[in-house]
Amino acid sequence: MLVFEKKTDLEKHLTEQRKRGHTVGFVPTMGALHKGHISLIERSKAENDVTVCSIFVNPTQFNDKSDLEKYPRPIEADKALLEKTGCDVLFVPGEREIYPEGGETRDEGRGTKEGMGNTDMGIVGTTVQHLPADTQSQLRQTSLKSDNRYLQVQLGDLEKVMEGTRRPGHFEGVVQVVSKLFDIVSPDRAYFGQKDFQQQTIIKEMVRQLNYGIQIITCPIVREPDGLAMSSRNARLTPSERAVAGIISQTLFTIQKLAGKLSVDELTMLVESEIAEGSLTELEYFEIVDAGTLQPVLNLDKAESAVACIAVKVGQVRLIDNVILK
Ligand code: AMP
Repeated sequence: MLVFEKKTDLEKHLTEQRKRGHTVGFVPTMGALHKGHISLIERSKAENDVTVCSIFVNPTQFNDKSDLEKYPRPIEADKALLEKTGCDVLFVPGEREIYPEGGETRDEGRGTKEGMGNTDMGIVGTTVQHLPADTQSQLRQTSLKSDNRYLQVQLGDLEKVMEGTRRPGHFEGVVQVVSKLFDIVSPDRAYFGQKDFQQQTIIKEMVRQLNYGIQIITCPIVREPDGLAMSSRNARLTPSERAVAGIISQTLFTIQKLAGKLSVDELTMLVESEIAEGSLTELEYFEIVDAGTLQPVLNLDKAESAVACIAVKVGQVRLIDNVILK
């Protein structure tokens, strides 16, 4: 496996690969790799000539500094796992490599896009303010550097639900880093997990709006034997927290079985009683949403699609999961 820290070195290597007619599959991750990540690498290997995995704990998608600090970073174990899986290329950029202009967590007073330490965007706040809105907007667009194209993405209602409302700015950070990584890797296909359902929907929307010619492939959730969705955060659960965490997926599987028989309200009440507020678990949200718009489904019979999404705090660890109902 080739390991690159500099984007120019990676770009040079991938240009060579493409000259040889090789297709490129890309799996962006934040490391602390487990079988869920590995399933994406394996799928990419099966569908592409070259598979690139990136490991970058992206500060701009964290709105809680302590969550960022506590995020596990077992880089040597990750490298060994990727070697074993037969991953071709690992990209492990430092923070300055991705954010030469500076990248911060969202809890440092940087709530708006214009305040994101981007020198080009300074024009928006100063010189052009007196110009008509249309001209301002045009100037804004032309002042964007290619690696700041993410600023044009309008997430609209997609980020006004679930993770978006609980983690303000999170998806702006995700779109920012994934667009930068897409610009560096220029893959034919990119692989994301169904586990982060809202994220994969938003990435598909970003690809649509920015006209990236990249196929986004969503891979099924890989689970522990008791059903708990694999997550890098599971490592932070204490043994007693880990023992109760299985309730999250077990409740979702029950919902899946009963979806044809009970209403959305009844299903929601069932979840609220199953994951009752205890000393170890706290239900943050349970929502049944349309898979495309992510807006709440009110009537399952009439819905075209439906995904049951949940977020639960187990001790200090926030876990998410989902199941597709139709
Ligand atoms: P992360 O390192 O948490 O940013 O995740 C990197 C990618 O792996 C994302 O596309 C996740 O959705 C995906 N992923 C994480 N956990 C799982 C899992 N249990 N099963 C399948 N994919 C996963």
